This record gives sequence, C-alpha cells and structure tokens, in this order.
Amino acid sequence: MPYPAKVTLNTPLDMHLHLRDNQMLHNIAKESARTFSGAIIMPNLVPPVSSKEEVTAYRARIMEAIGEETFEPYMTLFFKPEYDRVFLESVRDEITAIKLYPAGITTNSEGGVSGFDVEELRPALEAMSDLEIPLCVHGETNGFVMDREAEFVSIYEKLATAFPGLKIIMEHITTKESVAALDRFENLYATITVHHLIITLDDVAGGMLQPHLFCKPIAKRPEDREALLRVALEAHPKVMFGSDSAPHPKEAKEACGCAAGVFTAPIALQLLTQLFETHGVPLENLQAFISDHARRIYGVTPPAKRVTLEKKPFRVPAEYNGVVPMYAGEKLDYTIEEVTLG
Ligand SMILES: [Zn+2]
Repeated sequence: MPYPAKVTLNTPLDMHLHLRDNQMLHNIAKESARTFSGAIIMPNLVPPVSSKEEVTAYRARIMEAIGEETFEPYMTLFFKPEYDRVFLESVRDEITAIKLYPAGITTNSEGGVSGFDVEELRPALEAMSDLEIPLCVHGETNGFVMDREAEFVSIYEKLATAFPGLKIIMEHITTKESVAALDRFENLYATITVHHLIITLDDVAGGMLQPHLFCKPIAKRPEDREALLRVALEAHPKVMFGSDSAPHPKEAKEACGCAAGVFTAPIALQLLTQLFETHGVPLENLQAFISDHARRIYGVTPPAKRVTLEKKPFRVPAEYNGVVPMYAGEKLDYTIEEVTLG
C-alpha cells in the first residue's frame, strides 16, 4: 500500500555514524544533526578516542560543529583490553558504548584487538557488563574479503556465551550468517546500514567499478541482502538502523587505492522511506527500525524531533562540501519537507 503523501518519522536515530574530525567534521556534521535526533559516534580518529579527556574534547568539537542544531552525539571509546573497572567507572557517564575493532580491519583500526582470547578480554568485558556499557563490534576476520564476516560469527558466539550479561551489537551486518546469529543469543543485537539493504557486490564491482559504493564490510550476495531486508522490514526487535555513513574527500574515493566508506547521512531517511514503501511495509516498521528499537536497546532518551517527508522527487546533490553521497545526481522519491522539535 502506498504511503500517504506526507510521512512523519519521530526522533530518528543513527546508531553507527562516522563524523570524523577537524575540517571534515565541520563539513558534514550538520548533515546528520539537522534530521537525526542523535547518533552513536564512532571513535576511530587518529589517534583513536580512548581516554576520558579525548571523549569529552571530541564531544565538544562535535557540538561546536553542529552549531544551533538539536542533536545528541552518543559518544564511544575505542576498545582496549587494558581498560579496567576503575577507568570504566570514571568514564561511564561520558559514553554510551565502547567500540571494538579487530586490528587493521578498517579505517584507522590499527590499534584494535588481535586474537580474541576470552581470558585476556575478561576483566574489561566483565566490568562493561556490570556497568551496563554495550560493546559494539566491527565483526570481520582477516580472511578472504567475502568470508570475513561469516568467519567472525564464531567469535560473536564465543563472546556472547562468555559474557551473557553484556549487550553485544554486531555493527553493520552484511550476511545471512550474522542475521541467523541474532536469534541464537539473547545478548546479540545488530545495526544495518541503508546501503547494505539495497546493493550487492554486483553494484560495486559487477560493471564499472563504483568507488562511492565501496565500503567495509563489502556488500555481499543477493541472498545476504535478502536476509538483511527481511529483518529490517519486519522490524525485528533486535535490529536498529545504523548508517555507517563514512565520508571521505572526493579525491580519496576517486583514486587509485579507494578509501572504504559510503556517505549516506543526508539521504538515509529519504531512501529508507522509499525502500520500506516499495516493499509494502507498514510505516510503523520503519519507525521501529529508525528509532524505537534503538531507544529501548540502548535505554536512551534523545531530544524529540519530527521529520516530515513529502512524496516529491529529490535530486541528490553531486557533493556535500567535497564529499560525494550515494546516489549523487540521481532522483529519490521523497524530499525532507520539515523538521520540528518537541
Ligand atoms: Zn563504521
């Protein structure tokens, strides 16, 4: 059934967002802050955000970059096995989650975890569990690029079993194996990007190479996309929207040695509305995916925002301050008409 001409989304949240730093932060932060009520902010800066001072200073830089917009940056730390209970208690009020990267797997993750020895990770993860700090994980091994995420599922299982009280969020899942793991463990949750609901590897590399669709984890097979679509569209209660919007300057994408990341922040709500409508899914499911589940899973109370979209063609700009978005120059079905607070 088609949606009404005007659709309102309540308090949209982006549970996985890269805002970067310095000039790039200033160039792109408002693109999220205008329409989203809040976002989980990734800590993979250079150097990674791993102390109380760094996280409060980064938050302050974000607040400065978004100016007058009403937007809550939910801050994260870059996971280190040496985090102890005293440190975690001291930083508890400044953060919403901690992000774990396997070493060297994506942009600025060189200082991540190598090997997943449960006993080595136990002090930090038990303290997180006790303090109710969720663990967000970039779940890929160093294996063959198409198999990395599926291979990582055994590590998710190991962690979920060893730390049953720890909320573990499988970030930006791209495979049917990760989808299946969701229902096997009570403490596993997931975020899904909008681009992984739409593209497969064919869109990236099946014809001419599309650098603006190249990201980590790389888009997978049609059957993987189907599995992701199923849980997003049915509003599976453990699945949240997380854009993984990851801006790079145009010259870093259109280059020999293309940086990984798809920039979707300014088009995500329009695209998701179009996608859910095309699949004939009730609007409530989109509302659950874009906000309600995240609020429940993370226990956050973001500033109330109502985003009204109108069914009117929207021409995606070629660039946003030097960053090329997904669908640059193409037309989407929905335009953001109004954003109101409260
Ligand atoms: Zn990411």
